[in-house]
Amino acid sequence: MTRLARVTVCSGALRANLARIRSLAPRARVLAVVKANAYGHGAVTVARALGEADAFGVANLAEAVQLREAGVRQPVLVLGGFRNDEELAAISRLGLWTVVHQDWQVERLTAASLPAPVGVWLKLDTGMHRLGLEAGPFREAWRRLEDHVNCLRPPVLMTHLACADDAAHPEFTHAQLRRFHAVTEGLRGESSIANSAALLAFPQTRAGWIRPGLLLYGAWPLLGGAQRDGLAWRPAMRLSAPVIAVRRLRAGDAVGYGATWVCPEDMDVAVVAAGYADGYPRHVPPQTPVFIGGRPARVVGRISMDMITVDLRGLPAPRIGDEAVLWGEEVRVDEVARRAGTIPYELLCAAGRCVT
Ligand SMILES: *Cc1c(COP(=O)(O)O)cnc(C)c1O
Repeated sequence: MTRLARVTVCSGALRANLARIRSLAPRARVLAVVKANAYGHGAVTVARALGEADAFGVANLAEAVQLREAGVRQPVLVLGGFRNDEELAAISRLGLWTVVHQDWQVERLTAASLPAPVGVWLKLDTGMHRLGLEAGPFREAWRRLEDHVNCLRPPVLMTHLACADDAAHPEFTHAQLRRFHAVTEGLRGESSIANSAALLAFPQTRAGWIRPGLLLYGAWPLLGGAQRDGLAWRPAMRLSAPVIAVRRLRAGDAVGYGATWVCPEDMDVAVVAAGYADGYPRHVPPQTPVFIGGRPARVVGRISMDMITVDLRGLPAPRIGDEAVLWGEEVRVDEVARRAGTIPYELLCAAGRCVT
């Protein structure tokens, strides 16, 4: 630990969010997405906290191996699929599941001699044009895999939505859903469509396997920010850092790089030991909320590499070492992300990488 900023993860919040997801989609099974080190929260910590999840989703084989080595026994799905025969063999050996999204993967899977059959999620491209097979090859692949000895069950029928976060403009999502149903018609097997945004905004996707990520971590996936409902989700990550200086400044004094913020009156400012090296976004404007000594306050001046400055007007002066919360229960990461012109996903991942 070389940084003063701290990421703390609340297992209770993770479990509460999972329970909330289950009550939204009581008939669905939950694949908890823990890729990118569980969005910065720590994949092993989160997988242990979410022992009630039906399965976990990771980006690649290395992330799946990390969970297996930590003793996680639930099914783990490799969302990016395998890249070669060695990875396919490892997936089989470790009892993992894999997404299949290209024809050559179907060839390798049906030609391989594997120690055990693997769970396959066959991915249809319904319009996002990232991973997935086109309609014709999808049906052909499904037919070849349906009863194949290397395939655990009929493949799960899967797609991913590009615009589910935009509840005000549902047309693109409706077109993707229509395409999915048209292409998968008559194929037996479970289906899997919903990410966090779809779960909230498109109730018709709350079936089969759902794949929440962000909501488990208590951040809000829809454009436009969390309304009253959104606040019921419990933020699992807190990013905090100690106060390392309290300064008395005069009217007209400029604060920080670029001298972009100027004190309108004589006032106190706290210096908090966190900055963009800790994953706090450099682009937040002045007035972005923080909590200091348990009270709401505002950032002033530019964000430095390892320091931010906080307006103390109207607040009792904190002591050196008092904690400032940059995001967590008190300040929503969605709100900080919105002000920084980015999404909570990016901030959570960055803080997790920098400090943990
Ligand atoms: C990351 C990911 C998810 C989870 O997305 P959230 O928006 O965090 O809920 C679901 N499915 C796939 C294929 C993903 O890559």
